Amino acid sequence: MSGHTDMVLVNEEGIRIDGRRTDEKRPIRIEAGVLKNADGSCYLEIGKNKVLCAVYGPRECRPRHLQDPTKAIIQCKYNMEAYSVTDRKRPGTDRRSVEISKLISEALSSVVQLELYPRASIDVYIEILQANAGTRCAGLTAASVALADAGIPMRDIVPAIACGKADDKVLLDLNKEEDNYGQADVPLAIVPSTDEIVLLQMDGNMTREELEYGLDMAFKAAHEVSDIQKDALRRRYTEISKKEGESD
Ligand code: ADP
Repeated sequence: MSGHTDMVLVNEEGIRIDGRRTDEKRPIRIEAGVLKNADGSCYLEIGKNKVLCAVYGPRECRPRHLQDPTKAIIQCKYNMEAYSVTDRKRPGTDRRSVEISKLISEALSSVVQLELYPRASIDVYIEILQANAGTRCAGLTAASVALADAGIPMRDIVPAIACGKADDKVLLDLNKEEDNYGQADVPLAIVPSTDEIVLLQMDGNMTREELEYGLDMAFKAAHEVSDIQKDALRRRYTEISKKEGESD
């Protein structure tokens, strides 16, 4: 987020380097139930981001000292693969992945009915296979689909998308160039049925008016993302019931 580049990020017609309008999100593809051995799973692409998520549980919480006698806990591990970025990323946990894991597990904890499973752990593994900015939003969006695929009771699905600013324009869903050379990045995750905010961060500078305008775009886009999430789950259930019908 340097805010300085010779590159034109938004041209005079309001078109971005990847051909999008300022209020357009990248193409999204979501598939639920892609892994046989996990309790729930999801594969998600948004633009050039590729994310795989696996969920296990609820199961006995380990390490045991983390157990909560009143409810389950969500343990999330966000991991960027070494080959996910153009310069090889040093493998393993770093400060950034610890922070993202924590905020994704907090966002998910506000919709999962944790009180149903005292002492249990719900484990969420998010693997970023290819990164192009917006991976925390992509990871959280995929994780909530994987939780639903695992049959874990939730109040709602959680869609996430960012707004931001580059070339003095307010934009929806920043790509890597816009994130690197732009002026602000604001990831948002919501509960669609209530419009509650479960994740909101801001990096950079925007005026209050720009932020309000950006958040309006992001809320509208998040509702569209939730339709794509629900469609993926619907396709998954249809597939399962078809298989069950065949084995009868
Ligand atoms: P997000 O992916 O949620 O937007 P950041 O704003 O921290 O999170 O990162 C923006 C983008 O920068 C990432 O999606 C990725 O493309 C790139 N990036 C992040 N960390 C690294 C890293 N350690 N090495 C190379 N590229 C990285």
